[in-house]
Amino acid sequence: MAVTLGTPMTQFSGVGEVRAKKLEKLGLSTAADLLAYYPRDYEDRRQMYTIRDAPLEGRVCITAMAAEHPRLARIRKGLELVQLKVVDHTGALHLTFFNQGYVEKALRAGEEYIFFGTVEEQGRRRTMVNPIFERVGKQNFTGCIMPIYPLTAGITNHLLTSLTRQALDCAACVPETLPQSVRQAHNLAELEFSIRNIHFPENDEALTLARERLTFEELFYLAVGLDFLKRRREAAGPGCAIPTPPFKTFRSLLPFEPTGAQKRVMDEVAFDMASGRPMNRLVQGDVGSGKTAVAAYAAWLAAQGGYQAALMAPTEVLAEQHYRSLSALLSPAGVRVGLLTGALPPAEKKKVRQALAHGDIDFIIGTHALISDGVVFRRLALIVADEQHRFGVAQRAALAAKSTTPGAPPQVGRRASGEGRKNSLLPTTNQISPGEPTAAKSETGGMPAPHVLVMSATPIPRTLALIVYGDLDVSVIDQLPPGRTPVETYVIREDKRARMYNFVRKQVSEGRQVYLVCPAVEENPGAALPGEEVPSLDLKAVKTYAAKLQKEVFPDLTVGILHGKMRPKEKEAVMAAFAAGEIQVLVATTVIEVGVDVPNASLMVIENADHFGLSQLHQLRGRVGRGKHQSYCVLVTSTKNPDSMARLRTLASTTDGFKISEEDLKLRGPGDFFGSRQHGLPQMKLADLAGDMRLLSQAQEAARRLLREDPGLSRPEDRPVLDRVRRLFSDTPDIFN
Ligand code: ADP
Ligand code: MG
Repeated sequence: MAVTLGTPMTQFSGVGEVRAKKLEKLGLSTAADLLAYYPRDYEDRRQMYTIRDAPLEGRVCITAMAAEHPRLARIRKGLELVQLKVVDHTGALHLTFFNQGYVEKALRAGEEYIFFGTVEEQGRRRTMVNPIFERVGKQNFTGCIMPIYPLTAGITNHLLTSLTRQALDCAACVPETLPQSVRQAHNLAELEFSIRNIHFPENDEALTLARERLTFEELFYLAVGLDFLKRRREAAGPGCAIPTPPFKTFRSLLPFEPTGAQKRVMDEVAFDMASGRPMNRLVQGDVGSGKTAVAAYAAWLAAQGGYQAALMAPTEVLAEQHYRSLSALLSPAGVRVGLLTGALPPAEKKKVRQALAHGDIDFIIGTHALISDGVVFRRLALIVADEQHRFGVAQRAALAAKSTTPGAPPQVGRRASGEGRKNSLLPTTNQISPGEPTAAKSETGGMPAPHVLVMSATPIPRTLALIVYGDLDVSVIDQLPPGRTPVETYVIREDKRARMYNFVRKQVSEGRQVYLVCPAVEENPGAALPGEEVPSLDLKAVKTYAAKLQKEVFPDLTVGILHGKMRPKEKEAVMAAFAAGEIQVLVATTVIEVGVDVPNASLMVIENADHFGLSQLHQLRGRVGRGKHQSYCVLVTSTKNPDSMARLRTLASTTDGFKISEEDLKLRGPGDFFGSRQHGLPQMKLADLAGDMRLLSQAQEAARRLLREDPGLSRPEDRPVLDRVRRLFSDTPDIFN
């Protein structure tokens, strides 16, 4: 078969419909995908050993001759054994193959092979079980540096390796998109060389060169894309200048005295909003630091100035909670607060939309429904995005830009009196367009660009913050409200489960409530995560676990259940019941990860804790310790991996979110921070930002230089860059496509 970049997986030998489906899960549909699917690690199989000198640990390559014809034996039904002896000048090695009957015919006495496997010693005998073998001189899997790919259930590394080898036939056809000037300035390897060597490195130097080139490339396109986004924001034009009334008026609404840090951040926000330029500010504050009050203040400012504000939460649960607490806080000041989520009945939604268009709602709280079609504001001046890591850089930039984007917004219901003041959150351009920065503002009607306030509890290490938030001003709430006692955290193993249940009971008997978090919704979560060889078994699943707890462990308590697959209405009801104290033990998935605030909850138990990232565990832990009661977090694990254990211990030893995120970065690499899940940034495949600071600044520099020369990337030689950036950012959900 002649492989081209577009050759579908099904045309590769060894791939049928079933495997093609599974490969698709890894994002692999064509030869081009294979070439762009980089190994996560390598195994050095270059060293050849003699039978006598081969070490007993790790897998090794041995060149040896089959000394006899393989013997096939059927031990019992479903168990076939093939055995034979192979020799070299130092001795003999006894091979056993289980359930690989074909080996009987595949190995021929007198021929030389390379065997790759683990050598074991039984008495004086050296043995190897199920080795990989190849004829000398015809090697694909031995005698070289082998790639190790991220996998999924049903797809072996062996399969991926051989598919990728076939795909390499068209490596030369992958179009080079890095401008030559950039390649030369930074001494970057050629594309074809890099592709070949990232998969099957000729040697260590070649691998280094390949990786450097491909990493640079990723960072370069990222930098170019972010620059576009930033320019879009700068093109947004003037912001509303909203005057700052005396603070004591707002202070009198709050049930508490704001902390010094909260007050400082509020002042910064007020200053921005009064400045006449659109605010673009990130508020970083650890869980429980009181970010909501800052959001409330900003919305209050907007409403006092006669404008509308919108707050977007990442989940319905959170939106509803914000709605409850913020309307309680702000209604006394005459602020009309509304809620708009996907869960509302259509008629209700329509009513809310009309009220927004008419200016009958001052402060709207919602989920993504807010950026969906048909939402039109009358005087929108402020957008708050809570728990920003669920929204993403690109989304945020799009938001900031969209309300000034020319073009008639879709109409709602009756025509709202036709002044040119309405603006929509809906983007009318679907792509990053290099655009002419000035075109947008001149055509907009009366409304200037809205202020944008982003709130995040994910502490990001400084190095990463630079890129991720490169286009934002940052405020930090570095102080917790007074009277908080840190959550006591324990790591326990299965043998303490009974004690843990007793502790749950004790908390409940003292009038407290408990969260119990599980990693899965249903039994048998199916495919393993990429990078995991085997699907993890025995993950505690919310449904069965909750049923079991209710029946066998806490028959006398009220056990509730909350997970992402429930209908919004059900979720809402459960959260309300928990907040009202009607549910004592809430078994949940990570839907409760962000922002849920029930001060009476004092214990957080996390099952299979090793399955979560440290920062995520920290977020979860932040759900307790929000009231006046001493709170606890119990991490249950049965991991045998010392690294996982070390991670969990880190969490038990500190409550400092920044420290934890730095530890997470060290232990797990930046994937989690930099993955699209966290920030809406495109997924980086190679870039290890902790280690690649040098490359990163080079890539940023190169991006800047190119964009200085060709701001719109409109020169023919720069078009491929533009296309790449578009594609890279099109992965970011809801924004550019
Ligand atoms: P987060 O930063 O995690 O969003 P919240 O805004 O939800 O934190 O605040 C956590 C809890 O602390 C809430 O119950 C809130 O009412 C309370 N809180 C916030 N600020 C203060 C303060 N200055 N003094 C006392 N309690 C506060
Ligand atoms: Mg919050």
